[in-house]
Amino acid sequence: MKTDITRKSLSKSQYMKIVVGYYKGQDDWKYKAIDAYVKVDNAQQWNLCPKCGLFPKVWNFNNGSSTACGCGESQYRHFSIHAESIMSFVRRSHNGKSAVVFDNDSLRKNWNHWCETGWEIFAHAGKRTDGLW
Ligand SMILES: [Zn+2]
Repeated sequence: MKTDITRKSLSKSQYMKIVVGYYKGQDDWKYKAIDAYVKVDNAQQWNLCPKCGLFPKVWNFNNGSSTACGCGESQYRHFSIHAESIMSFVRRSHNGKSAVVFDNDSLRKNWNHWCETGWEIFAHAGKRTDGLW
């Protein structure tokens, strides 16, 4: 299911309807996500999913963060974009203790990059072999 809904394909008012609807929760039933996933604060800085046309919801947990949208089979088996966890980042820093240049915005950047190119900047641990997670 590819919608080809992008910001560019929508008029300003159509787009704003989606933004407002996102915060009102009118599309909540479409999300494949457990309740831990919450709306982002700045939806307009996140691309619409190119497959389901929804803004993502995000889950920031102890050891990483991930997205959920309408893509997937169920709330437990769904598509996600991930960002590197802060502990993984700290471990590979120059002294193994520094989080100084950790990018708190990396999940958004990875999501937008994936929406635009189909490629992930940071793949989930299960998809990589370099030990980062
Ligand atoms: Zn989607």
